[in-house]
Amino acid sequence: MPSDRLHPDRIEVRGLRAVGTIGVLPEEQTRAQPFEIDLVIESDIRNAGRTDDLDQTVNYAAALAMAAKVVESEPTLLLERVASRIAEEILGMARVDAVEVTVRKLRPPVPEDVQTTGVSVRRTRVDLFRPQRFKTTAYVALGANLGDRREHLRYAVGQLPDVTRCSGVYETAPVGGPEQGQYLNMVVELETDLNPFELLETCLAIEAGAGRERLVRWGARTLDLDVLLWGEASIVCEQLTVPHPRMWERRFVLQPLAELAPGRLPEDWDRRLPEGGITRVDDLER
Ligand code: ATP
Ligand code: MG
Ligand code: MG
Repeated sequence: MPSDRLHPDRIEVRGLRAVGTIGVLPEEQTRAQPFEIDLVIESDIRNAGRTDDLDQTVNYAAALAMAAKVVESEPTLLLERVASRIAEEILGMARVDAVEVTVRKLRPPVPEDVQTTGVSVRRTRVDLFRPQRFKTTAYVALGANLGDRREHLRYAVGQLPDVTRCSGVYETAPVGGPEQGQYLNMVVELETDLNPFELLETCLAIEAGAGRERLVRWGARTLDLDVLLWGEASIVCEQLTVPHPRMWERRFVLQPLAELAPGRLPEDWDRRLPEGGITRVDDLER
């Protein structure tokens, strides 16, 4: 089972103080009191780590201002409501995949001797682990270099659910791994209601159906199906990384993908990759 995390990166801000009119007691509805807020924002900050660019991460100053504004806004009865509203606001920010918000009342008006009372909520932008309610556009890369390569591609396209478009078929020289024969590669687009993990499972099952064996890393194979993109999701888990981590260095992936979704590629992808080793053969007959 995947853990309920998309990737390991988090931005943490703890102990923000703000004053608000929040509580169910009559005196709490007329007099403001102090609150403390913690935010744990889950965001894929690998690019910020590489580039040192603020635009590649979540600006926590903006998140703090948003949280303080919610606490200080109109009177509210429940901490649950305040924490949920803060979470919604922060989820609306670019690059935020999930957020955990804790709101604590620092002087809870109860007869018992208690330090704080609080509520924590966690909200995710899309729940990638549950069945999807809406269809998502995903891209899968296909590769075959053993047996009847074209037949394996045709089999895969027939087995994959909800295929909307196919790139052309490319003949490509093997990259990495032991010496082996030329590949046929292509990319397909799906409008799928499978979540990313279900899509991966489906791909692995189709590979198995084509007699895929894993003997050597990057060795020859009857069929390889890699999940390239699943909506805008960014996932780094033990069994699944999306976008596929090695796709950006592979002309045999990007060239067919560029036929279907040029907007998903960096503008200079073509210039950055070594040329050659790839020929567009034709379109797959289905
Ligand atoms: P590469 O991933 O470099 O293209 P490969 O396709 O030959 O190499 P496989 O043996 O097909 O590698 O995959 C091994 C494992 O990689 C799979 O069982 C799967 O759990 C994991 N994996 C992680 N991310 C992905 C992804 N985006 N698509 C497919 N498999 C993935
Ligand atoms: Mg692969
Ligand atoms: Mg693979």
